[in-house]
Amino acid sequence: VTSYVDRFRASVRDRDAVPASPRRTQDRGTESPHLPDRFRNEPDTDPALPANRDWARRAITTPAPPTREPEITDPAAVDTVVERATASAWGTRPAAERAGVLRDAARALAAARGELLTVMVGEAGKTIAEADPEISEAIDFTAYYADRAAELACAPFTPDRVVVVTPPWNFPIAIPLGGCVAALAAGASVVIKPAPQVRACAEVGVAALHRGGIPADALQLVHTDEGDAGRRLVTHPAVDHVVLTGASETAALFRSWRPDLRLVAETSGKNALVVTPSADPDLAVADLVRSAFGHAGQKCSAASLAILVGSVRSSRTAAGARFHRQLADAVRTLRVGHGSDPSTTMGPLIGPPDAKLERALTRLDEGERWLVEPRRLSSTLWTPGVKEPVAPGSWFHLTECFGPVLGLMHAADLDEAIALQNATGYGLTGGLHALDPDEVDHWSERVEVGNAYVNRHITGAIVQRQSFGGWKGSVVGPGAKPGGPNYVAQFGTWHDGPLEA
Ligand code: GLU
Repeated sequence: VTSYVDRFRASVRDRDAVPASPRRTQDRGTESPHLPDRFRNEPDTDPALPANRDWARRAITTPAPPTREPEITDPAAVDTVVERATASAWGTRPAAERAGVLRDAARALAAARGELLTVMVGEAGKTIAEADPEISEAIDFTAYYADRAAELACAPFTPDRVVVVTPPWNFPIAIPLGGCVAALAAGASVVIKPAPQVRACAEVGVAALHRGGIPADALQLVHTDEGDAGRRLVTHPAVDHVVLTGASETAALFRSWRPDLRLVAETSGKNALVVTPSADPDLAVADLVRSAFGHAGQKCSAASLAILVGSVRSSRTAAGARFHRQLADAVRTLRVGHGSDPSTTMGPLIGPPDAKLERALTRLDEGERWLVEPRRLSSTLWTPGVKEPVAPGSWFHLTECFGPVLGLMHAADLDEAIALQNATGYGLTGGLHALDPDEVDHWSERVEVGNAYVNRHITGAIVQRQSFGGWKGSVVGPGAKPGGPNYVAQFGTWHDGPLEA
């Protein structure tokens, strides 16, 4: 069995002779003739080019800068920040001008790719393969929302005054900066409160946006905890909107602090990828491994369950035995380590596992066995695990664990698989691997998720092509999706009054 990792390595070796320029090649999907001309997804760094590998090696072995900004604990200091944001002239600038500044900011982010890679790898332990596309996504958000800003010219729209962005640690550049540039595109001023684990990442990203021309008073960064200062930030009367990506419990906490809060929240998920007998097993295994173990499974979008249908589920059929063997082999080829080692293919946990993840990594429930048993290498380094069969309605079927554990479930047919997939209470991402077009139609009409992927990995939504967001227990608020056409327009009020110039 050649795992996808080995195939990737082989492709790099075969292509060593390619000349070193241009530094990047377009590899983020092909352009659709139906998309507008202006926006192009930023390509990732192409590791096939030797010059790029040298560049990346330098970036990941450079020490990450320390956090520079102090933590604020005094609510009065938060008031000063919010007052400065309220007084900013950003929202009074014409929409077309704001769009121009955001386009410059996108270029500034692109110029900072090396610095961003250094801090993401150094502070969050991300691998290049995870960090580099995330930088592309942040650039995409900025350029794409610039176009949405331009569309607001002459719209009956008044931007929010101040938007607070409270991002998670798992995407320390794309999610924080994406929230900021969306609100800025609408004309709001922004205060960002980074996740405590990745403060330096946010500082480097925000500094790049400032270099691109976003005014210092329109985009301010503050470090607070969830004590009085954090509470003041969310409840300050001039704050019109809070953007949260994080746990459902945090959304509930914010609501308890301020019941009338306008909250845009993307919360948890328990995502499954269904594999039917018509699937190409090579592709299904590669996409499953990538979806389950990319960033050690620490993504809301990660595949935590694979639902194996019909002959694929049983190790006693030839197809099922082959699938199980291939999956186990591919999982075992993952090299666990820190992102600063270029041979690492699965990075560390952000901290020691919490109680849920610890249970998922170390315990089996009734009837389950390990197809691949996880091993603890250190408190944050764990080899990946695969358990089977996860029973319908069991703890692992219904609980988000946010780490490198995949559970295999068994379904007699596609309808049973869809029922299991829809039963988690969440509805963020979901996938199907099947080459039978009738199965694809049947599944697509019935699956209850925000992002449904067919014959593709289920993480890594691409701006404009796959705006990202959930259904059911995975979303709080109106649910406009990041990277989609309506996201910017939610940061303001639509009315019949005076027009925005
Ligand atoms: N947008 C990311 C993706 O498509 C997931 C974001 C998250 O995990 O919060 O994989």
